[in-house]
Parts: sequence; C-alpha cells; structure tokens
Amino acid sequence: MSNNVDPKEIHKFEELASRWWDRNSEFKPLHDINPLRANWIDQRAEVAEKDLLDVGCGGGILCEAMAQRGARVTGIDMGEAPLAVGNLHKLESGVEVDYIKSTAEDFAETHAEAFDTVTCLEMLEHVPDPSSVVKACAAMTKPGGTVVFSTINRNPKSYLLAIIGVEYVLRMLPKGTHEFSKFIRPSELGQWAREAGLEITEMTGLLYNPLTKTYKLSQSDVDVNYMICARKPA
Ligand code: SAH
Repeated sequence: MSNNVDPKEIHKFEELASRWWDRNSEFKPLHDINPLRANWIDQRAEVAEKDLLDVGCGGGILCEAMAQRGARVTGIDMGEAPLAVGNLHKLESGVEVDYIKSTAEDFAETHAEAFDTVTCLEMLEHVPDPSSVVKACAAMTKPGGTVVFSTINRNPKSYLLAIIGVEYVLRMLPKGTHEFSKFIRPSELGQWAREAGLEITEMTGLLYNPLTKTYKLSQSDVDVNYMICARKPA
C-alpha cells in the first residue's frame, strides 16, 4: 500500500465535506473555476465516450462536469466523507461516476494504461511526495492519452495572493488550507512529468480578480494558480 498520504490533509477535507456542493462554502472557488477548467480539459482531451480518471476527486465537482460532457468517469480519493458526498450528489445530478477510495499509486498497480485522460487538480500540493502521484498518473494513461494537473506556483507573489490574500484578507478559504512550502513551480512539475515519460503540451494560468470576483485563464501569467496539459507519447 502506498503511504504517500498526509492524514492531516485528508482529515481537513473530511471535516468540510458536507459543504462540498454548497456554492457559497469553502468550496466556492472550486465551483467558480470549474467551467473554465472543465472546458479547457475538454478542448484538449475531447472526453466524450472516453475513460477518464480524476485523482483526488473530492466530492466530485470535476467528475460530474466531465460525466456531463460524456466521459466515463472514475474518481479516486483517500477521503471517505468526500466520496460519500460524491456518491449522494451524483444521484441528485443524475450522472454516472464511479467513486473509489484509493491513492493514485495503489490504483496504478491494477490500472496500467487504463484511461484515455487522467486529471489531478488542486491535489498535488496536499501530498507528501507529489512526484510519485505524477508518475502514477502517467502510468495509468493510455499511450496517446492526456494528463492534466493543476496546482499553485511557489514564489513571493503566490504567497501573498494564495495564502495572505485568499486565507487572511478575502477569507475565501480557511486559514491553513494551503502550506506555502508545498506549492509547486511549473519547472518542478514539468520535470516530474518528463521523468514520468510525459510531454508537456500546454500551460495556462488561472487568475482571480477580487474586484469583479471572477476568474479567467491567462496564457502568460502562471504566477499563482496554473494548469498543465501533457501527452503520453503513442
Ligand atoms: N480535485 C478536486 C478536489 C481538490 S481538494 C477538485 O479540484 O475539485 C483535494 C482533494 O485531494 C481532497 O478531496 C483530498 O481528500 C484529496 N487527497 C489529498 N491527499 C490525497 C492522496 N494522497 N490520495 C488521494 N486523495 C488525496
């Protein structure tokens, strides 16, 4: 069994899980960015009728959006409560998603090259060894398939915006949600992806405007939140 799990992190999300689908809760930012990221992924991976795995799926905000776009979706997470919430909410939404409790590493043991698309969003900054998750995601992707990661960059600006701004000034997330030292530079994520045999095809920043309370994608600004799209060579 993989021990690449921080129990404190899992506990944090278990505590919040009942509010996962409340758009005005701690999960508001994930709801707000979801159409942007779901479309960005779908434009690159064309998920309809494909097998998609979402690693660290939580209560299923991305899983449901991808299922609505026609993907056959499996979501894995180590939190029991988020998975229970996902299982209830899919009934309400009327979508099909298979939720399973597992780490990426353990799931990879039995799911080598099983998925056309693997997504792992806002999760790498919560695990002890993110490079091991990247490797497992690559291993579960079919040759020619697509992998998408999202996380938070590590620099003075991201400390100021993602921690001081979001947790202390705007109070959009509880204090302690993110730990600065766990943030990941695109160069680091890129290197782990290449070491796992992936080719980075694209990167985009995700910007928050506190005045309009809206998000937008930016090709040029990956200073804080960003997504990386990679391909596994055919
Ligand atoms: N990916 C989702 C949820 C992000 S919150 C989204 O973007 O909408 C981070 C999630 O990662 C939580 O649900 C938490 O339980 C999960 N997680 C943290 N460490 C994990 C690990 N080692 N293995 C699997 N899931 C993990």
